[in-house]
Amino acid sequence: MVETQLIPRGIKDTRVLDAMRRVPRHLFVGEPIQFKAYDDMALPISEEQTISQPYMVAIMTELLELKGGEKVLEIGTGSGYQAAILAELSQEVFTAERIPVLAKIAEERFSALGYTNIHVRASDGTLGWPEESPFDRILITAGSPKIPQPLIEQLSDQEGIIVAPVGDRFSQQLIILKKSNGSLSEQFHTPCMFVPLIGKHGWGGNKDF
Ligand code: SAH
Repeated sequence: MVETQLIPRGIKDTRVLDAMRRVPRHLFVGEPIQFKAYDDMALPISEEQTISQPYMVAIMTELLELKGGEKVLEIGTGSGYQAAILAELSQEVFTAERIPVLAKIAEERFSALGYTNIHVRASDGTLGWPEESPFDRILITAGSPKIPQPLIEQLSDQEGIIVAPVGDRFSQQLIILKKSNGSLSEQFHTPCMFVPLIGKHGWGGNKDF
């Protein structure tokens, strides 16, 4: 996966490449599709959600420019795979998932794999995780019409970075938002396709919360 998908497409951060070599991706999908876990595609998990394509995980992680000491917030735990990659590369990861059963399964995976620096909760991640803010990095792994305002507010002023797929319900583009001494700058990156971010500051349909 690393040699045939990630390096040829330009992923250069050796820490990201090493983390993706280490984390057993097949343990984040159901047994019947484990043989496809390292293929070049997103795969279904339960509750009509997906685990992102390996390249998408790699590029989003690289764009976060993790050095090792960061406090990271992820919105959209899903399978937990992306959170595990983040946990390999930062100090502490907080990950929010709106579907409680997915949060529970991911939590079981983290403890089975021995991760002690990942905190999971079932909540509407568009509201962020105010008690733990500010965050050095925030990653949204579901497609959103805009970056939720609470997340911008919970981002550190000191070289904080948010990476998020922003667009309509069916196609988005990765946005990199940087905050430095209170001023914001935005850059557009790769086109992508994510399941929708559903919540108060995302798409409608937040009946669960
Ligand atoms: N990062 C995941 C892939 C995420 S798929 C992985 O590595 O497997 C997107 C996830 O975002 C889905 O599980 C979906 O339920 C979740 N999601 C959608 N809206 C959300 C919200 N408002 N808060 C938290 N999670 C949300």
